[in-house]
Amino acid sequence: MSLPQRTQTLIIGAGLAGLSTALHLDGEALLLDGLDRVGGAARSERFEGFTFDLTGHWLHLRDPQIRALILGLLGPDHFVEIERKSRIWSHGVYTRYPFQSNLHGLPPAVIKACVMGAIEARGGRGEGVAERGEGVAEPEGFADWIRFYFGEGIAEHFMIPYNARLWGVAAEEITSRWCQRFVPRPNLEQIIAGAVGCHAEGEGYNARFLYPKVGGIQSVPEALADAVGRAHIHLNTPVTRVDLKARFVETASGQRVYFERLVNTAPLTRFIDLLAEAPAEVRAARAKLRAADTVYFNVGVRGALGQDDHWIYVPEASWPMYRVGAFSNALPAMAPEGHSSLYVELADRDTPPEALAGRVKAGLAAMGLCQPERVLFMQARRIPEAYVIYDFDYHASRALIHEWLNHQGLLSIGRYGDWNYSSMEDALINGRDAAARLSGGGEA
Ligand SMILES: Cc1cc2nc3c(=O)[nH]c(=O)nc-3n(C[C@H](O)[C@H](O)[C@H](O)COP(=O)(O)OP(=O)(O)OC[C@H]3O[C@@H](n4cnc5c(N)ncnc54)[C@H](O)[C@@H]3O)c2cc1C
Repeated sequence: MSLPQRTQTLIIGAGLAGLSTALHLDGEALLLDGLDRVGGAARSERFEGFTFDLTGHWLHLRDPQIRALILGLLGPDHFVEIERKSRIWSHGVYTRYPFQSNLHGLPPAVIKACVMGAIEARGGRGEGVAERGEGVAEPEGFADWIRFYFGEGIAEHFMIPYNARLWGVAAEEITSRWCQRFVPRPNLEQIIAGAVGCHAEGEGYNARFLYPKVGGIQSVPEALADAVGRAHIHLNTPVTRVDLKARFVETASGQRVYFERLVNTAPLTRFIDLLAEAPAEVRAARAKLRAADTVYFNVGVRGALGQDDHWIYVPEASWPMYRVGAFSNALPAMAPEGHSSLYVELADRDTPPEALAGRVKAGLAAMGLCQPERVLFMQARRIPEAYVIYDFDYHASRALIHEWLNHQGLLSIGRYGDWNYSSMEDALINGRDAAARLSGGGEA
């Protein structure tokens, strides 16, 4: 399929944000993607009857229009709705998610430290201060924010070590702005209730999720791509240069496509690198944007798993993994009959993963998931720049770049194009909103 020489709207990236933009646009759009499949971060791979997403990709659809779009494209029967089963494994025991409101089951000294810390934190905030943050001057730093709401014990036993392992940087280096929507904030009464075993059900943003019955999460972008029309999507076509004056992009094979409007969904860092015209202050801001890779194993297991969780958090530094998820616990068809499948996310991004495989297997056994001899294979994978880091330079740097892009009439959207921490549904919403802005006829 040859590349057209010009298009009205050119979209860099055929992940969920790019596909959604194209689908919501009335006019002609052309999508270019460097990979051989659509879907971006929401892709799946197959191996000997196993289907693996790029670690857990559980779908939460709250926006009625986006929900109707996805269920309309794939049919409601394409999905199962699943109630989250997720726990924390620490001090050799399992406790329910979220840690802060489910302390029951931990060693008594740990519970005492967590409850006393929460009481002191509440005292520090002041009795009259709203528990949920309204009207409160919250600490900007994430580590201080954790202590402000949860106290020293919960900070030390879960929040600070777990988040350092997930983000790949110390909690002191990041701000609390990413977490408002994602970290449940129980009040003192709820923390105490959870410590004595009176658990609340379904806390957090992800208590229920949808998952495709067949094809893994890849089936979602594939359905979007069918709806957009495959003729509009050019895969294996990385964009290597963008000329804003002459208004064309150049691909790796040297072909040029002229555009009237450009929407970027590639990572903001790499997009700026493509723009020869980007001024020095934009390049300087780009240099301050940081992101952490995700390094993980796809694991195939013979037989059933010993735990039925969808994912398990591991905060303790003595283990290489910070989170273990079980695709086949969400949907048995993700593994061949008589088998199970896991993803194991690693805190250490520098050591070659193969060198950690032995300790991972020991960890899976200690967690009661499976004995080492039942592990059939462990495939190491890396997702570059998977988690945008909300450090203290983040907001000013990102704002400066977007302001300049807006002046150029460019939209840069999606989790990485916008440069944020967000979900698949957010990427779909971003595409819808970008199309509305473009169709409104105004400046992008
Ligand atoms: C480890 C991990 C787990 C996640 N788990 C969940 C979850 O459970 N639930 C949930 O809702 N969300 C989850 N997400 C978030 C979700 O994957 C993203 O929000 C969403 O897929 C982002 O879509 P996007 O289109 O914005 O970006 P992307 O999917 O990254 O799409 C951008 C596309 O641009 C292409 N591209 C880049 N550079 C170029 C170039 N130069 N030329 C051409 N093409 C280019 C890429 O190949 C890619 O296809 C997770 C993300 C990660 C990393």
